[in-house]
Amino acid sequence: MIRRPPRSTPKPSSAASDVYKRQSLENASIFMPLKKQQIDWDGLGFEALPTRSMWKGECSTGEEWTDGDLVPYGDVNLSPAACVLNYGQGVFEGMKAYHTAKDRIVMFRPDKNSARMQKSTQRICIPTMNDEYFMKAVLSTVKDNIDYIPPYGKGTMYVRPISFGISKAISVQPASKYLFIVFTSPVGSYFKGDAKVLHLFLSDEFHRAAPKGIGNAKAIGNYSASLFPGMQAKSNGYNDMIYVHAKNEQIIEEMGAANLFAVSNGELLTPKLGGSILDGVTRDSVITIAKEILNLKVKEIDIEIERLLKAEEVFCCGTAVEVTCVGKISTKEKEYIIGNGDYGPKTLSIKKHLIQIQKEEIDDPFGWIHPI
Ligand SMILES: *Cc1c(COP(=O)(O)O)cnc(C)c1O
Repeated sequence: MIRRPPRSTPKPSSAASDVYKRQSLENASIFMPLKKQQIDWDGLGFEALPTRSMWKGECSTGEEWTDGDLVPYGDVNLSPAACVLNYGQGVFEGMKAYHTAKDRIVMFRPDKNSARMQKSTQRICIPTMNDEYFMKAVLSTVKDNIDYIPPYGKGTMYVRPISFGISKAISVQPASKYLFIVFTSPVGSYFKGDAKVLHLFLSDEFHRAAPKGIGNAKAIGNYSASLFPGMQAKSNGYNDMIYVHAKNEQIIEEMGAANLFAVSNGELLTPKLGGSILDGVTRDSVITIAKEILNLKVKEIDIEIERLLKAEEVFCCGTAVEVTCVGKISTKEKEYIIGNGDYGPKTLSIKKHLIQIQKEEIDDPFGWIHPI
């Protein structure tokens, strides 16, 4: 629930609000509210709550992305023949803004999201945008909605850039006109009831994506493919699905929106990129933390189902799910308990380091933190 207090009645100043004053002095052209919105920060789930504004830009085929501005948060008008509605020509990104222990607002590796946006758009014929345009849109949106960022320790702001074809396409072809929107929402934890340990369903009944398809792009069609299996798994009491590789059903792929890792014989394993696996920013960060900080041996390889089920630890990761332990995996035949069914030491340590870097509770040795 969001109540919009008048901006003119700031509460007594706190350390948390001073940060906005500092920023507004540094960048006087952008309005920086001096206080947080009155939102039930402790009751946040993972939903799209409306905020003040969103970025909206338009681009035609053959042109550059230059157009765009902040507009009031709200609905978008589309023709019923819009390409995205008929042929799913759309991509998205997912990133987060944090209010950190150092009492400032930061983003985590936004350059990686920008690069991935370029890859995804290219794969489905949306004009690609350069880093400068992407960053300008993202940072403007976050700054204008800065008072919706949960206080330190109370959640994060999810940032969702999307781009899609809006011109009419009645025969199957790319649109000639595209929108780019960045909207945000304050969020709490991704899994319902703050599920700390997941129970996943592994099945070859459905595939999420094909190796030479669009699984390695954040293209919206992948996610409609995962709705039915995901919903079925949830209605059977599991938190989500583990998909197998579409070409070799003996090896695992990933979840509907998160990458998978296993600790096996003390080594950290994750499915290798190159096929249908989405190149997660969190996946890359986990690999780096494991190698550079924890001195673990990391292997990006094909992981057989057998090996996953016998692993000492399994976890999934993504911007939305962060690092979450997988305690149990069920197949149609049997339920397997992974390790002792709870966070193992390596998962816990990786999770702790990642979150502490993101929240600036420890130093960031990798240059991942992007203060705004
Ligand atoms: C977004 C996404 C991930 C996680 O990527 P991050 O960059 O870590 O958020 C993993 N798998 C799929 C299919 C995704 O869409």
